[in-house]
Amino acid sequence: MAKQQLPILQFEDKIKQTVENNPVVVIIGETGSGKSTQLSQILHRSGYSNSGLIAVTQPRRVAAVTVSRRVSEELGVRLGEEVGYSIRFEDRTSEKTRIKYLTDGVLLRESLSDPELKQYSVIILDEAHERSLNTDILLGLMKRLIKLRASNLKVLITSATLDGEKVSKFFCDCPILNVPGKLFPVEILYSSERPKSYLESCLKVAIDIHVREPEGDILIFMTGQDDIEKLVSKLEEKIMSLEEGSCMDAIVLPLHGSLPPELQIRVFSPPPPNCRRFIVATNIAETSLTVDGVVYVVDSGYVKQRHYIPSTGMYSLDVVQISRVQADQRAGRAGRTRPGKCYRLYPSIIYNEEFLEATIPEIQRSSLAGSVLYLKSLDLPDIDILKFNFLDPPSSESLEDALKQLYLIDAIDDNGSITKIGHTMAELPLEPSLSRTLIEANKYGCLSQALTVAAMLSAETTLLPGRSKSNDKKRKQPLPDLPDGSGWGDHIQLLEIFEQWDQTDYAVDWCKDNGLQVRGMKFVKDVRKQLCQIMQKIAKGPLDVIRSKRWKDSQEDYKDLRKALCVGYAGQLAERMLRHNGYRTIGFKSQLVQVHPSSVLRTDDEGLLPNYVVYHELIATSRPFMRNVCAIEMK
Ligand code: ADP
Repeated sequence: MAKQQLPILQFEDKIKQTVENNPVVVIIGETGSGKSTQLSQILHRSGYSNSGLIAVTQPRRVAAVTVSRRVSEELGVRLGEEVGYSIRFEDRTSEKTRIKYLTDGVLLRESLSDPELKQYSVIILDEAHERSLNTDILLGLMKRLIKLRASNLKVLITSATLDGEKVSKFFCDCPILNVPGKLFPVEILYSSERPKSYLESCLKVAIDIHVREPEGDILIFMTGQDDIEKLVSKLEEKIMSLEEGSCMDAIVLPLHGSLPPELQIRVFSPPPPNCRRFIVATNIAETSLTVDGVVYVVDSGYVKQRHYIPSTGMYSLDVVQISRVQADQRAGRAGRTRPGKCYRLYPSIIYNEEFLEATIPEIQRSSLAGSVLYLKSLDLPDIDILKFNFLDPPSSESLEDALKQLYLIDAIDDNGSITKIGHTMAELPLEPSLSRTLIEANKYGCLSQALTVAAMLSAETTLLPGRSKSNDKKRKQPLPDLPDGSGWGDHIQLLEIFEQWDQTDYAVDWCKDNGLQVRGMKFVKDVRKQLCQIMQKIAKGPLDVIRSKRWKDSQEDYKDLRKALCVGYAGQLAERMLRHNGYRTIGFKSQLVQVHPSSVLRTDDEGLLPNYVVYHELIATSRPFMRNVCAIEMK
C-alpha cells in the first residue's frame, strides 16, 4: 500500500497532540494500518528524536530487521545510520541512529546497565497483542519508569487486537487512540468437518482457488518451518503439473521466522505481472509482518505453541488450535486491498465452541527462571517478584519453580536474594543454565570450550539440516565426516564440530561439504566472539579464549567442561534406570524420561548408555524426552 494512504497518517495530528499531553498512550489499529513503520516517523517529525532516541520494540527478531529496513528506505537513509536495529547478538546502529528497532529482550537487557533507559525519549512497545513474555515484563517496568521520568519520556503501546481498556487501566486510565483500518469485507467459508490431514487439505483448497478464482495472492497459514517446507514443495509440484494456459503463472514463497534475509525480501517485493503468489506462512503473517496483495486466506486453524509445565519442568511443543482472535486476524489479511475470501479448514462449531477467545499469554506458559533472574538483578527496592505488577500474572507455582531453579545454580541465596554469581549471570544474554556454565568453566580453565558450546546451542536451529527444534522426529545424525562427540554427547559434538571448522580457518566449503548452514556457522562464530567480549568485561581483563581451542584427539574426555556443565545444569540431571529402559530425572522433580532420538547418545544398545547425564531441556512429544544430552559418568 502506498505510504500516503496508510490509515495511521490521517491521524498524525491527533497522535502528536495526544502524545504531547500524556506520558502513556495506547494505540489500537488494524494490522497493516502503519503502526510499526509510521509511528516512529511521526514522532521523529515532531522532534522527539532531538532529545533522545525513539525505540520501537518488536517481539520477533525478523520483524525488527524487516521493519527497520523498510523505514530506512522510506526515509532514504542507509540502514544502521539514522534508522537501525538491535537484536540479540546483532547490533546495526551507530552514533547517528535516531530511530532504533529492537527486540523486547534487547531493551530489557539495556535496562540492566541503564535502569532508566535515559537514552530514549520515546519507547514504543509494538505488537503488544502478541503478549510475549518480554513485552509483558516491559509493560510492568514502564509503569515504574513513567513515574521516574514523567517529564521526559513518552511511552506508546500499540496493538492490533489487544483489549485496549485493560492496558489503559493498567496505566492509570491513559488515553486510547483507535485507528480504524480500511478493511474490505471478507467472506468466510467453513469446512464441513476437520480434514484428516490439514496439509493435504491446504494443498487442495489452494490449488482450487488458483484454478477457479480471479487474480489475487493466496496466504496459507501453517504451523511451522517443517510443514511449510512440505507444502511449498507439494504446491510447486502441483502447479508444474497443471496444464499450461489453464491458469496464470504462480510462485510459491515460504514465510517464517528463521528464513534467511534474502528470502524474506522476496515476500515484500512486488510480484511479476500476471503472476499469482502462494505465501505459505506461520502465524508471523497474522499480525507481525504485513504482506500486500493477499485476497485469499487458507487457515489450517492450527498453531505451534511451546508450553512449560512447572510441576514437571517439561516443555511441550504442540500443534494446538488457534484462538478466535487469531482466526479473525488471519481472515482479515484477505481484505486489505479489496474484498477477499477466507477458507477455514474447520467447521464453524469448532470456531464458536472449541477455540479459546484469546491466546494464552507467553508469561503463563513459559519457564520464568531467566525473567525472574533479570528482575532480581535490577535490585529495585520496590519490586517483589511474587507481587510484581503484571498485566496477567503467572501462576505462583511457575514463579516458585523459577526461584527453585535459580537457587540450585547459586543465583539466589536462602533468602531469595540475588547472589554475586546471579548478578554476573544476568549480564550474559543466555539462559541461566548456560550463563552459570560459563562462569564455572572460567574457573576450571575451559571457558573457550564452554563459550563454543553456548554459542552453538544459541544458533542450533540454523546449523544442521534437520536439526530444527520444531521437527523432533528428524535425526541430527552427524554427517559422515563430522565428529560424533566421542560418546560424550551432544554438547561435545557441537564443540567438536566448531573446533574442526576453526581448524579450516572458517572455510565456507567445509560447511557446505559437511551439510552445515554457512550462515548459521558464521552466526555461531559471531555469537561466540560477543559472549567472549562480555566475559572479558565481567572478568575485567583479557581472557585467552579469542580463538577456539584447537581440535584435539578424539580420546579427550573433556572432564572440566563436563564438570562445568554439571554445575550449570544442576537442576537438569538424570540417572540411568536399568529396568525402565531410560532415565529418571534427579532433583526436585523425579520422572522417567528418555534420550531424544535426535541425540548422538541415542543408541539401540542399552548397555552403552552412560549412568549419569545432564540435559539442556525436557520436551514432551510422544513421550518425555531429554534434548541435548551430555554424559557425566560413563558405564
Ligand atoms: P502495522 O504495524 O499497523 O501492522 P506496518 O507499519 O507494519 O503496519 O505496515 C504498513 C505498510 O507497510 C503495509 O502496507 C506493509 O505491507 C508495508 N510494509 C511493512 N514492512 C514492509 C517491508 N519490509 N517491505 C515492504 N513493505 C512493508
